[in-house]
Amino acid sequence: MLLSRLRETVRSAQVLTAPEDTAAYLTDWRGRFTGRAQAVVLPSNTHEVAAIVSVCAEMRTPIVPQGGNTGLAGGATPDPSGAAIVLSLKRLNRVREIDPINGTITVEAGCVLHDVQQAAYGAGGLFPLSLAAEGSATIGGNLSTNAGGTQVLRYGNARELALGLEVVLPSGEIWSGLRALRKDNTGYDLRDLFIGAEGTLGVITAACLKTFPLPRSQVTALLALDSVSAALSLLPLAQSTAGPTLTAFEFFSIRCLQLVTRHFPQQRSPFERAHAQYVLLELSDHEDERHAAALLQSLAEQALEKGLIADAVIAQSAAQGRSLWMLRESISEAQAREGKNIKHDISVPISSIARFIDETDALLAQRFPGIRMVTFGHLGDGNLHYNVMPPAATDEDRFFHEQQSAVYECVHDQVARFSGSISAEHGIGQLKREENMRYKSPVEMNLMRAIKRTLDPLNIMNPGKVI
Ligand SMILES: Cc1cc2nc3c(=O)[nH]c(=O)nc-3n(C[C@H](O)[C@H](O)[C@H](O)COP(=O)(O)OP(=O)(O)OC[C@H]3O[C@@H](n4cnc5c(N)ncnc54)[C@H](O)[C@@H]3O)c2cc1C
Repeated sequence: MLLSRLRETVRSAQVLTAPEDTAAYLTDWRGRFTGRAQAVVLPSNTHEVAAIVSVCAEMRTPIVPQGGNTGLAGGATPDPSGAAIVLSLKRLNRVREIDPINGTITVEAGCVLHDVQQAAYGAGGLFPLSLAAEGSATIGGNLSTNAGGTQVLRYGNARELALGLEVVLPSGEIWSGLRALRKDNTGYDLRDLFIGAEGTLGVITAACLKTFPLPRSQVTALLALDSVSAALSLLPLAQSTAGPTLTAFEFFSIRCLQLVTRHFPQQRSPFERAHAQYVLLELSDHEDERHAAALLQSLAEQALEKGLIADAVIAQSAAQGRSLWMLRESISEAQAREGKNIKHDISVPISSIARFIDETDALLAQRFPGIRMVTFGHLGDGNLHYNVMPPAATDEDRFFHEQQSAVYECVHDQVARFSGSISAEHGIGQLKREENMRYKSPVEMNLMRAIKRTLDPLNIMNPGKVI
């Protein structure tokens, strides 16, 4: 009955039920969660989405929205009951409007992030959201997880880049909030409710996004340091020297670099000797390359003089800049090749990062002797990917089975002690739902539940995720 109603709404070819057709939609990117669904449904426009949601509301069928399925918290994977449908937004992939004077691009939710960057670029603008999964992740998924990435320091998270949204509500009504305004103080900000909601409050079908002038030049440098505290002192120096041209301030430890060079032998450290920590800096300038390079040179000299850095390499070409970025961007893949990790995507106030790492590293080493830390992240945003590898030559599966929960608890308790967040940019999904409830106050959880009940009284929108 449900399937025939859905087939009337979208052509039958777009209601997938055969296991070979649905499999890719039922497991998350990391392969941690696999669920079942009555069908995978692929509408091609907002009205079809609205009609599908209305049918599901009528039949009390849970809906799991899905974009590129690159999320890291299991938010786009249905539960094993098989009761839900997966609603893939992939076919809503049109650029509706580009307005260079207003500095906006209006796109449908299933547009792939890289395509949106290219469309903005084609019109002479910059859409700055950038992350390693940009070839598959969609704008709807980016907004629903409030994605971060490598340019947050300068341009903000996905939330800061959205001016307006179009959303299909759990009732099947369409909220046309696609405003292209930078100022709009006409009541509660409904847009912000849906951003970061991970599909639990409605289906985002389109967004009006900010674009920026394209920088004329970009220069990258890798700086070698002896400590995390030196990296923290370097940040304000970089901000005051480079001003708004500072677009990335990424951080990784020597272990990260060793993993990358071991698993990707074509990549090399540009330094003769090893250093404890590294900072990757990028400047995006509206003057020519010489100006950006001079700013970086001045920063490196000041940092050397103050004893904050031990060495520096400033890329002399775009290709060299790319290879420095590759060192940073290959860390996740190198880690995966090395073996299993217990991953934490956390944030703490930037000024507390060194103390957080020192104290938490020591605590973990004492409680789980031999573990190996893989720490990297977006230092300029206070966001660490603080990952724990089991001791060398241990039975990985056994370590995970016996210790994973204790490691999570130890790290997340520390995060709470430092007034941080247990999910900086990947969201809660099904992975951290229980953890989140441990750390949010009852007042905050009750407010979130009240919002959920008001917008989705039938609890059909991505149930079991976030709250
Ligand atoms: C290699 C790699 C690197 C990554 N790097 C980063 C990074 O640097 N920063 C970062 O923040 N994330 C990163 N991620 C995580 C991921 O790419 C982001 O979370 C991305 O925003 C998810 O987009 P998606 O289209 O794949 O969403 P999906 O995985 O399909 O869905 C994610 C969540 O959003 C919901 N959703 C999807 N579309 C909609 C919609 N239209 N309406 C309502 N709800 C919807 C889903 O139900 C789910 O809860 C990375 C992932 C990978 C695999």
